[in-house]
Amino acid sequence: MVLLSLPAYLRHRIGNVYLAGVVPGPSKPSLDQINKLLTHLVDDLESLWLTGAIFKTPSCPGGLHVRCALIPLVCDMPAAHEVAGFSSYNSSHFCRICLLTLSDIDNIDVNSWPLRSFDNHIVEALKWRDAADEAERAEIVDTHGLRYSVLLRLSYWNAVLFTVIDSMHALLLGLLETHCRTLWGMSDKSEDFDGVRQPHRAENDPTNSHLSPEHQSVLEAMASLESRVKTSTSPEDKARKVLQKINLESLKDLCRKASVSFDGTKRHLWESLKKWQGLTGPARKAVLGKSTLTTIWSDQKTITTPSWLGRAPKFAGSTSHGKLKADEWRNLCSISLVYSLTKLWSNSEERYQQMLENFMHLITMINMSHLRIIDHETIELYRSSTLAYLAGVKTLFREQTLVPNHHAALHLPDLLKRFGPVHAWRTFAFERYNGIMQSLNHNSRIGVCLL
Ligand SMILES: [Zn+2]
Repeated sequence: MVLLSLPAYLRHRIGNVYLAGVVPGPSKPSLDQINKLLTHLVDDLESLWLTGAIFKTPSCPGGLHVRCALIPLVCDMPAAHEVAGFSSYNSSHFCRICLLTLSDIDNIDVNSWPLRSFDNHIVEALKWRDAADEAERAEIVDTHGLRYSVLLRLSYWNAVLFTVIDSMHALLLGLLETHCRTLWGMSDKSEDFDGVRQPHRAENDPTNSHLSPEHQSVLEAMASLESRVKTSTSPEDKARKVLQKINLESLKDLCRKASVSFDGTKRHLWESLKKWQGLTGPARKAVLGKSTLTTIWSDQKTITTPSWLGRAPKFAGSTSHGKLKADEWRNLCSISLVYSLTKLWSNSEERYQQMLENFMHLITMINMSHLRIIDHETIELYRSSTLAYLAGVKTLFREQTLVPNHHAALHLPDLLKRFGPVHAWRTFAFERYNGIMQSLNHNSRIGVCLL
């Protein structure tokens, strides 16, 4: 935890950070365990709010009465839902601020969204806590999209208002990655095209005519599985959801037909099939295909950026590059892509011009949301850019449904008004602390103090 009363330059110094606890791995805690893990912290916080504590300092030798409160809960989307007591972000009630259902996720008319009421939230959460059996609890989760969180014991804490949307995960790792990888298919192994997808049926695709019926049936089965996953926050998340829809034996059967190894876990088998699909399936096409990426990489050599700004990653989009960090996505999109795509597309065919305009709305909303000083004007510019961007995505990429991060982006203006610039309530610093702890050599002696 960090103390928001401290100035920004002091609050993230390691000596000013309160490490309340570390959850032992290797797997993440269950929903029930999360409440147990937080119980002692909530006890302390409630006492510090109701009675406070006396601290003696050089300037106050008689003691200073201090009270404290936990206000914003800053997590990535899955953790925020688990810790604050909301149903999963991929359940029907996927949003922790409103009760729009997943089937209506393409609705971007914010005024039509039914907002959650905290008064109702606490009533139903207590019913969940006191329920007689699991069936009764499941009914509450299905109907209201919530369950009990021990944080609700804090007399002042409002789960709906205080569980913030983290701009680093939702916008930088979420929207920028979704735009480049999902909508534009960024890959140096793909041929370039304008992003207008034709309905694909493997048996009608001339590029598959050389395949045996057995191999074609595997491609069809994989396409069918993937089409049943409506929303996902990342390729890993999509693979996880796909694997929930097929059992190990059926997966092995597909591997046998494709003549790939069928030893290992479901995840291993799916990865083998995806590799086979990449080599065997129809030639893939992408808006950011190898020709466009080659131009972007070449342009990067000519761009000089201020020394305080990290460089955009070299060869982003190549298969050898791997995952990009949040800052790398931001630099790549807001510098390299803006420069190269404006050069390539601004005088090109109408569809490319429309895609460029749509991308610039995305960059405007990213820039407005990360300003260190904001006012009503910048928040309104963020809101209008987000609406224009999402409307453009729906028009230009008709076969794609919006994902929870798109929806969350439209809630961000209210949070900007409530909490101010995002640097005070985003996860960048906390991810750094995670990195520090992960780099410590603990020799498997969990629980021994190392900091
Ligand atoms: Zn919502």
